[in-house]
Amino acid sequence: MQELAKIYGETLLLDKKFSYCPGCGHGIVTRLVAEAIEALGIRKRTISVVGIGCGGFSHHYMEIDAIEAMHGRAPAVAVGYKVAKPENIVYTYQGDGDCSAIGLAELLHTANRGMPVTCFMINNNLFGMTGGQMSPSTLEGQITSTTPNGRDVHQHGYPLRVPEMMADMHGAKYVARESVCDAKSIRKAASSVRKALDCQMKGLGFSFVEFIVPCPTGLKLSVPDSYKWNKEKMVEYFKPQIFKNEMEQNDEN
Ligand code: SF4
Repeated sequence: MQELAKIYGETLLLDKKFSYCPGCGHGIVTRLVAEAIEALGIRKRTISVVGIGCGGFSHHYMEIDAIEAMHGRAPAVAVGYKVAKPENIVYTYQGDGDCSAIGLAELLHTANRGMPVTCFMINNNLFGMTGGQMSPSTLEGQITSTTPNGRDVHQHGYPLRVPEMMADMHGAKYVARESVCDAKSIRKAASSVRKALDCQMKGLGFSFVEFIVPCPTGLKLSVPDSYKWNKEKMVEYFKPQIFKNEMEQNDEN
């Protein structure tokens, strides 16, 4: 931290090693969130509410206040905090298992009520920390530790597209899906993180960004192959796009 501060000035992202596995997409998203908070000048009034799973460590790498919520409950905790401290900026950081399985009700009702918080869902299409089990966003036919013969949609349901469910909700003002598969996608994702937080700063309502990221460990692939798989398979089904942008200021996506 001291070395970085000497070179770059005070920085939000702490100079310490991630606990994320090498190549994990969480490292990229964590950095994007930290950079956006710094760029928007909201460091001292931003609170992170994290869920359970690998994403539950994201606040360890930032000089930021945080609350660790119970599994799936981060949006509910974020809403409670925001109601008590409306001047602060509150965002949730959750994986797809936390966010779209056990916590889907909290997330959708927060969006539908138009609560002025920001939710980030990091979708690596399985439960990473607990051993690569199927999550709601596991692809059809995908082999995981709980679907050894591949996900059977007739038995397990279809891969769940979360932002599509929010696009028609009046309370949701900024809804996007991004990917971190390559440099161009990461630049777009950085823009969406800023817009989602800016939406909250302007008091417009609920904002949400899903990130399609690789989990090389859960996929049992090398880092390059996990990014290739993500780009070819995940992004094909979970297409990155801006579903909704009701912000007054529409800068480039
Ligand atoms: S298990 Fe997957 S999601 Fe968790 S840190 Fe490792 S690569 Fe990332």
